[in-house]
Amino acid sequence: MSEIVEDFERFGFKAQILRGVAEAGFTIPSPIQSEAIPHIMAGRDLIGQAQTGTGKTAAFGLPALDKIERHDRVEILVITPTRELATQVSDELFKLGRFAGVRTVTVYGGQSSFRQVDLISRGAQVVVATPGRLLDLLNSGRLKDLAPRIVILDEADEMLDMGFLDDIKEIFKFLSPERQTLMFSATMPAPIRDLANRILRDPVSVKVTAEETTNKDIEQRYFVIEEYERDDAILRLIDAEEPSRSIVFVRTKKEADRLSTMLIARGYSAKGLHGDMEQKSREETIKGFKSGQLEILVATDVAARGLDVKDVSHVFNYHIPFDPESYVHRIGRTGRAGRKGAAVTLVTPLEFKELQRIKKNVGAEIKRETVPTLGDLKKAQSAKLINSILHARINDEANALLAHLEEQIDSRQISLKLLSLLVEKQGAQGPDNIGLSAQRLEKLLNDQKRHQGSKGGGFGRKNFGGGGRSHGRFSKGGDHGFGDRSRLDRGGYGDQGRSDRAGDRGGYNTRSDRDHGNFGGKKPRGGRDR
Ligand code: AMP
Repeated sequence: MSEIVEDFERFGFKAQILRGVAEAGFTIPSPIQSEAIPHIMAGRDLIGQAQTGTGKTAAFGLPALDKIERHDRVEILVITPTRELATQVSDELFKLGRFAGVRTVTVYGGQSSFRQVDLISRGAQVVVATPGRLLDLLNSGRLKDLAPRIVILDEADEMLDMGFLDDIKEIFKFLSPERQTLMFSATMPAPIRDLANRILRDPVSVKVTAEETTNKDIEQRYFVIEEYERDDAILRLIDAEEPSRSIVFVRTKKEADRLSTMLIARGYSAKGLHGDMEQKSREETIKGFKSGQLEILVATDVAARGLDVKDVSHVFNYHIPFDPESYVHRIGRTGRAGRKGAAVTLVTPLEFKELQRIKKNVGAEIKRETVPTLGDLKKAQSAKLINSILHARINDEANALLAHLEEQIDSRQISLKLLSLLVEKQGAQGPDNIGLSAQRLEKLLNDQKRHQGSKGGGFGRKNFGGGGRSHGRFSKGGDHGFGDRSRLDRGGYGDQGRSDRAGDRGGYNTRSDRDHGNFGGKKPRGGRDR
């Protein structure tokens, strides 16, 4: 076996699986992989507390794939809360298992169930399914012989949030007790612990957590503005930063629609992404963003969960996120795969306290900056324009056009007209100053200092990680990172946009307006993914 996967060899995988690992470009096991794989290989049930971006799919996928014995039946069942995750997991398992001849079928609502059942019956070893459709197929007897030896419940807490818990319990009634069960969840709220007690046998628990989540490749900044300045601020910052590809995070579906419409009206190539969109249009939007056709995605937390796009240069928080975990999740969309990224957060005086809480918990510097004035922006744009004019190459068409124009007006006039056209195109607009006045800002900062003093350290950790998530470093310390050889970024640990505690935070219109991630255009409870 190739030398480069020597760190994976110690798990005792078959050669074909190691080849999948090598082809995927993995060299060093991630912390969750180091921790979980030996237990899974030993046949133990397991609870893994880890988020997307930690390498959890391969953590359960590799040992599960390695254990496939028969190729004429389903041996592995993975249950995921969303279609996106199902597809992602399925792709990853296909990639890792392809040299072992593993066939994977994805089962979710909105697609022909006949085709899915047909594919399974033609010999798939792995089924990755969302709960609603899976339960339908089981209830209707169309998946009669499903008896996987390994069952994986992925993002269990998300299933709870989306109202799938009863479905999950039902599904397990259909499954043989002779199985190995693995459950992955970012948090362990009580109903998930109860579920674990029901479906797992004497499980080992492994945990990697998300403190030093903040990727060093992400430069984090915040801007203090007044509530009414959000739109102007976001436009100004987009113009000033010139992101190549960016995600603007908003709190509600309505806001995603409104802001994307506003951006389009101003000439940006933008689109909203939220849970009320039809699956097809969601997929198209993500595809457009990945291919570079779309420059700006205006997304809700839920809709952007798990989104893995390599070249996102900027993440903008139009509102400060609800909690530190969401913040980490959001900014983890940039600075991926070793690239540099910028995370820009708009904060109003009312949100300032939230910002302190996030700052305390993410363990990385978030620098305060002021929004560039219109004058600053114009100056910067002029400098760039001058530079590009000086470096532009003259082509034949230009020569011909100039000759033509010179017959009508003089060179100076031609130059001025051309420059005017270019400046107009740059389109800097909006008020000159955006952001808190120096006086208000000073008062805010002083208030905050006083508050911190009186609290003896400020906005503590107690709220962070609701439902028992702990936020130390990776439980086994820093040496378990991927090292320089890895292409896995350390910043992607927080892929869970949390919505469970949203209700007690202010700032969005109504609860029903929030994006609960009901991807089929229905409400979460009634809108199962069938
Ligand atoms: P996951 O947390 O499963 O969503 O994985 C996040 C990303 O990391 C995926 O693109 C994986 O292919 C990749 N990945 C998983 N394990 C490793 C590893 N050991 N080294 C490098 N990349 C990895």
